[in-house]
Amino acid sequence: MADMPHPGEVWLVGAGPGDPDLLTRKAERLLRAASVVFYDALVGAGVLALIPGNVRQVAVGKRSGRHSKDQDAINTLLVHAARAGERVVRLKGGDPSIFGRSSEEMVALAAAGIRVQVCPGITAASAAAAGAGVSLSLRGLARRVQFVTAHVRAGEPLGLDWAALADPSSTTAFYMGRNAAGDISRNLIAAGLSGATPVLIACDVSLDSEQLLHTRLDLLPIAAKVIAGDRPTLLLVGEAVAGDRAQTAVAMAEQLA
Ligand code: SAH
Repeated sequence: MADMPHPGEVWLVGAGPGDPDLLTRKAERLLRAASVVFYDALVGAGVLALIPGNVRQVAVGKRSGRHSKDQDAINTLLVHAARAGERVVRLKGGDPSIFGRSSEEMVALAAAGIRVQVCPGITAASAAAAGAGVSLSLRGLARRVQFVTAHVRAGEPLGLDWAALADPSSTTAFYMGRNAAGDISRNLIAAGLSGATPVLIACDVSLDSEQLLHTRLDLLPIAAKVIAGDRPTLLLVGEAVAGDRAQTAVAMAEQLA
C-alpha cells in the first residue's frame, strides 16, 4: 500500500516550482487524501487547484522575510491539526528541504510526538535549468553545484563566504537573490570571478509568466532591475548556464553523429 496521510500525521510535501505537471504523483495523491493542507505563498495556483473542494486549504507564510514568530505560529498550527486527528499536508514551494524551513517544522512536530514524513519536490534551480535548456553541472566546466540563500533581514549584510563561492568551475544558484543582485555581482567579482561569467535570471519558472534572461555577472545589477519585479526569482551563475550552451550541445551532438 502506497504511503497515505494518516489521521494525526503530517506530510511535508514539495509542490515544485509552480506548474502542476511538475508535481510528483505521490504529492498529488497526498493532496487528494489530506483533510487539511497548509500552504505557502510560493505554491502555484495550478497546484492548489488539484486539491479537492472538501479538503480545507489554509494559507500560511509570507513570500519572503518570514520572522521566527510566524514560523512558531505555523508549527503550532501543524501540531494542533495533527492532535485533532487531521490528515495534515504541509505544502511548500519547490523541494521542502531547500530553504523551506522544513527542519524547524519537523523538530517541532517530533517534539510533540507527531509522526512526520517528507515528499520531495522539484527545486527552482532544476526547473530554471530545464526552462533555459542548460545543465547545472557540465563536464569540464562545472564540477560543483551550490545552492545558496541570499535572503537577509533588512539592513543586515549577506554574510556569505564569497571567496568559497567564487569558484569558476561551479554553478551557483542564488535563491531569494533578487534584492541582493548588486551585492552578489560586486562580491563575486571582488573575490576573483570574471565579470563576464554567464548569469541566468529566472523569474516565475515553469509558469505561463516565466521569464528567463541571460546576462553576465558585471551586468547583473542592471539586468535584475529590468526583469524581476516582485516575482520569485532565481539567479544561476556560472559557465554552464551560458545562453549559447544549449546550442553548443546541439552542435556537439551533430558533430558526433
Ligand atoms: N523550497 C524552494 C525554495 C524556497 S526559497 C525550492 O526548492 O525551490 C524561495 C525562493 O525560491 C524564491 O525567492 C526564488 O529564488 C526561488 N523560487 C521558487 N520558485 C521559483 C520559481 N517558480 N521561479 C523562480 N524562482 C523560484
